[in-house]
Amino acid sequence: MQVRQSEELSFRQRLELLVALLAGRPLRPLLDALNMVQLVQAHEFLWHKMVEWHYKTQPREFRREEVTQKMMPSRDYQKQQNCDLRLDYCKGVECIRAHPVCAGNKVKNNMEVMAQHLCELLQTSAALESMA
Ligand SMILES: [Zn+2]
Repeated sequence: MQVRQSEELSFRQRLELLVALLAGRPLRPLLDALNMVQLVQAHEFLWHKMVEWHYKTQPREFRREEVTQKMMPSRDYQKQQNCDLRLDYCKGVECIRAHPVCAGNKVKNNMEVMAQHLCELLQTSAALESMA
């Protein structure tokens, strides 16, 4: 997919996400202002931050299930959204084209779970330091 520069997630938008996250403010208003391209990039950005912060704060390996198990299963989510695509299409990029609202909400919900997880990583690391 050809992406114009103006459609890309800017450095400023990445910082705004982190600032909101650290301040404990909801990410939703920021996410609602993004287009689909930026939303996918923001998701990737937060995921990378999460893995990075995990290794900076936790002594053990990162397991993606720690986070994904807190997300709503695709089947339940799809039912809730009344998305009529085949489940594997709804889980994939097909849904971004056919049902941008369904795909968009899913990415936003999952990012809120990731934001919560990021805050927990920081809290456990602060707790560990105060014990030292
Ligand atoms: Zn869908």
